[in-house]
Amino acid sequence: GLGRPWETTKVRTTCPYCGVGCQQLLHVRNGKIIKVTGAEDGAPNKGRLCVKGRFGYDFIYSPDRLTTPLIKSGDGFREASWDEALDLVAGKIKEIVAKHGPDACAGISCARSINEDSYQMQKLFRVAIGTNNIDHCARICHAPTVAGLAASFGSGAMTNSFADFAKAKMFYITGSNMTEAHPVAATFVKNAVRNGAQLIVADPRRVKLAEFADIYAPIKVGSDVAFINGLMHVLITENLYDKDYVERCCTGFEALKAKVMEYPPERAAAIAGVSVDMLKEVARRLASVKPAILIYTLGITEHTCGVHNVMSCANLQMLLGNVGFECGGVNPIRGQNNVQGACDMGALPNVYPGYQRVEDPAARAKFEVAWGVKLPEKNGLMIPQMIEGLTTGTIKFLYVFGENLANAEPDIRHAEHCLASAEFLVCNDIFPTETTRFADVIFPAAAWSEDDGTFASSERRVSRVRKVSEPPGQAKPNWWIFKELAKRLGHDWTSNNGQEIWDNEVSHLAPILAGIKYYRIEEDGLQWPVPSLDHPGTCIMHQDGCFTCGQGRFMALDWTPPAEVPDKDYPMVLSTGRRLFHYHTRTQTGRCLGLNDLLSEETADISPADAARLGVKTGEPVRVRSRRGEVKVKARVTEEVPPGLVWMSFHFREGNANWLTNPVFDPISQTAELKACAVQIEKA
Ligand code: SF4
Repeated sequence: GLGRPWETTKVRTTCPYCGVGCQQLLHVRNGKIIKVTGAEDGAPNKGRLCVKGRFGYDFIYSPDRLTTPLIKSGDGFREASWDEALDLVAGKIKEIVAKHGPDACAGISCARSINEDSYQMQKLFRVAIGTNNIDHCARICHAPTVAGLAASFGSGAMTNSFADFAKAKMFYITGSNMTEAHPVAATFVKNAVRNGAQLIVADPRRVKLAEFADIYAPIKVGSDVAFINGLMHVLITENLYDKDYVERCCTGFEALKAKVMEYPPERAAAIAGVSVDMLKEVARRLASVKPAILIYTLGITEHTCGVHNVMSCANLQMLLGNVGFECGGVNPIRGQNNVQGACDMGALPNVYPGYQRVEDPAARAKFEVAWGVKLPEKNGLMIPQMIEGLTTGTIKFLYVFGENLANAEPDIRHAEHCLASAEFLVCNDIFPTETTRFADVIFPAAAWSEDDGTFASSERRVSRVRKVSEPPGQAKPNWWIFKELAKRLGHDWTSNNGQEIWDNEVSHLAPILAGIKYYRIEEDGLQWPVPSLDHPGTCIMHQDGCFTCGQGRFMALDWTPPAEVPDKDYPMVLSTGRRLFHYHTRTQTGRCLGLNDLLSEETADISPADAARLGVKTGEPVRVRSRRGEVKVKARVTEEVPPGLVWMSFHFREGNANWLTNPVFDPISQTAELKACAVQIEKA
């Protein structure tokens, strides 16, 4: 209970920002959060919090909150009752399904909301509408991880735990600016280094962790497959790889070997833009300590070769015999608080909850019995196909839950053109966003700390998220909104809160979550797979090299350059990412007073050499232009960025990197190449 209103009580919950999943104590008085501290004994953070986790909670009290259902009216919106708005949306769905079939509808779930909301949304689409056109923003970040690691290992998730970050003896960290994007995780790495661990950082930017590195390899944007093939060339030719492990635990070695022989150190180093000696030194060091832990983030995934980049990381760690052991493995860190969970819940077009495949007749039959309907047989569309479908006319109805597509998708102008073309667009959100401008109906939703549920962090840990206050005005939990729509489409669902949805549905239907019930995660969460109620959870997957898919699969991969490379018109590379004080398109952090004061506008980060050439200093305006658009921002001159590279984030509307980014996608995962396009820059 929350005690007397004037007393301060502490409520344990999970941070609403990144995928580290830090455990917080909310200090609550009179129904309001007055302070946040870290839960001292809780995994993974052991009391630590970053600036977002500690100070980034006041967005929920913003006067901008949506408090009533809104229906489009002329150029604006008018307030409506829940019944009117829900009836309108349900009626529109029925009309479009009758005219065009269920596959003319598509939904995008939310990786920030609780698992129970994502479960309910995919159920709405599969059961009440009859389509697998359900996806979420993992598409834009870690879909290559889900696809790539599933192909290599049989499971598409982080293999190890954050606890290993504090204990490992050798780190290989690539495409990850952990200090800013996953700050608490980075503190554990720094502790380990201080205790004698070795650190290798391979990244086009001299990210903060590079300061702590034994070797910093400044590889070129998009050279990952070539660089790793080169490392494996050295490991194989110098007999530094784990032959026993490779023979016992893996398949496909001969094909891998043949392929990496095409990448001698000279060729690989030339593609990556580093010296041959450095490449050899990285390979030899990696092999010198066992196990080494490999950690990556979106620098690996957000490429047209994203899935291949992920599989390359898997290849390297299998060759070294490092998968299946404490302080080893392949560890993607997920960006959003619940992007792991949204995947686990089946908010994906090809899997039901717990990664049971839509195209597997046995899985489908199981869900048909559980849900009491005939389910569609073919996989649904992925987000880029849905968005494109709005202009080609294949998608008439789009439901966007908590996702700001108009800022987050590559090529904003095109994305907005597509959104404007929707016949009917519905949004659930807590704030008006650039995307809700295009909506026909907006439903006001409960935010973090206004509803009970669970998040799954990057380390597969399912933790409780707790309610401390009612949503403002008439705002409602998202699962309730989906349930009310399903009712109007002829489906009466019984579960009536997060716990009932999880305990009675999710954990019944997903074998990897079968042993997780709310009563078991009152304190620390549990890491899936948790197959039974007496199972303690799984810190390390593929134990001792026994892979989920039997043997690990080596993939022979060729390097391919980014789809757009510099030329004489657009001579610089633009790469993108996140900054410490903000989070995604700032719908939350933009409304946190303290955080906005710390950073209030976008910059173009450029090297001192390029700044000198352009004649600009930090704070002076520059114009950055690509084939898609143009932004005017201030320059930030920094040694972090090498000559030839411009680096920007997508946090701000003005100067958002996505006015410039290239809407080209990995052919397997449909993830956009947000890390590489060609731009020109000039003094403004
Ligand atoms: Fe929250 Fe991530 Fe910071 Fe932890 S590291 S406090 S989960 S934003």
